[in-house]
Amino acid sequence: MINPYHLLNEEQLEIQALVREFCEKYVRPIVKECDEKSYFPMDVYEKICDLGINGMYIPEEFGGLGLDLKTQCIVREEIGKVDPGFSIGVGASSLAFTPVLLAGTDKQKQMYADHILNKGLASYCLTEPDGGSDAAHQRTTAKKVGNEYVINGAKCFITNGPVSTLYTVFASTDKELGAKGVSAFIVERDRKGVSVGKHEDKLGIRSSETSDVIFEDVVVPAENLVGKEGEGFKIAMNTLNRTRPLGNATVVGIMQACIDYSVEYAKQRVVFGKPISKFQAVQFMLADMEMKTIAARQMCWYVAELITNGITDPGIGAATKCFVSDLAQAVTTDAVQILGGYGYSREYPVEKLMRDAKIFQIFEGTNQIQRMTIANAMLKD
Ligand SMILES: Cc1cc2nc3c(=O)[nH]c(=O)nc-3n(C[C@H](O)[C@H](O)[C@H](O)COP(=O)(O)OP(=O)(O)OC[C@H]3O[C@@H](n4cnc5c(N)ncnc54)[C@H](O)[C@@H]3O)c2cc1C
Repeated sequence: MINPYHLLNEEQLEIQALVREFCEKYVRPIVKECDEKSYFPMDVYEKICDLGINGMYIPEEFGGLGLDLKTQCIVREEIGKVDPGFSIGVGASSLAFTPVLLAGTDKQKQMYADHILNKGLASYCLTEPDGGSDAAHQRTTAKKVGNEYVINGAKCFITNGPVSTLYTVFASTDKELGAKGVSAFIVERDRKGVSVGKHEDKLGIRSSETSDVIFEDVVVPAENLVGKEGEGFKIAMNTLNRTRPLGNATVVGIMQACIDYSVEYAKQRVVFGKPISKFQAVQFMLADMEMKTIAARQMCWYVAELITNGITDPGIGAATKCFVSDLAQAVTTDAVQILGGYGYSREYPVEKLMRDAKIFQIFEGTNQIQRMTIANAMLKD
């Protein structure tokens, strides 16, 4: 098969090689332990920061590398091949920073960028216990008192919740207005009243930590409001529309890793006196995995290039998120099938990839919600 990275430019190939080498050296050796013990390897995160990866999405004017979205996808795919959970943990800060990038002041952007460039982590806090899919309906409140806001509420399933020191929090400033009454705030972890609640014991991506984050009478200055009052929901959705390709790229990494393991295994596993790669049933599974991965990668890069060219379309973004994560279920399941009983064993890496892949149908809007978005875009007058 043709090398899928054939048309990448020199800079993209260099970054890809750098990240691949890094992951083999520092991430691969701890993947199993992080999965078993469920923790984010802070020391490895600090090392990847030395390559500038923490600042790859931060514009150069604020001190980052300012890589285009497709190049960021290539980085996330490489990390995803080795440990999707680590990719999500590293990437969560870009999800948290994007609302500020889209709607914040230059002062807010610089403060946030400095925090991330100094190896700090940040979280995007939208989901609440009463139903993540109904994100417009925020129970968390932010009440204006003089020149400050007082925030009260609880967020759940927050990636990096326990390890972040900066949060981007969505809260209702006017419940009567529904989605139009939601606003976005920057909240520092060390403010009085901020606490981390229950840590989730998850099925997959266990090297990213997920928890509740609670806000009890947390006072922030009015200058921590991002954009204007009432713009928060729009900012939250625009953020997801822009950052989804990066999650998709991580899934493509999972799919490619499954292919690599399966091809290698099928060539060396001998049953009925010959390698299982000689059986057409196995070949067809490999072929299906390859087709799906080629399609997934191209969709992901296409959306990334659209966004880089200023076209952010919720319909195509949702279609890509949904299709790629659905394809990943099939590819990871086939990988387990090709490895047979060993595929089901924790001694081999593919059962973990299958567990890791599942979340991509759930977070950043479930695939049911994505299908609603696609249909709405199709049926709009
Ligand atoms: C590991 C992990 C990390 C996460 N990280 C973050 C994070 O960093 N920040 C953040 O804010 N959130 C995060 N989330 C939350 C995630 O985005 C939500 O879990 C997701 O949006 C779904 O919300 P819910 O879990 O409340 O499910 P629910 O909204 O309760 O949905 C349950 C089921 O009902 C279906 N459903 C709901 N409404 C409809 C409808 N109208 N039509 C058809 N079907 C419907 C859903 O598709 C789903 O199958 C994370 C979640 C996980 C598990």
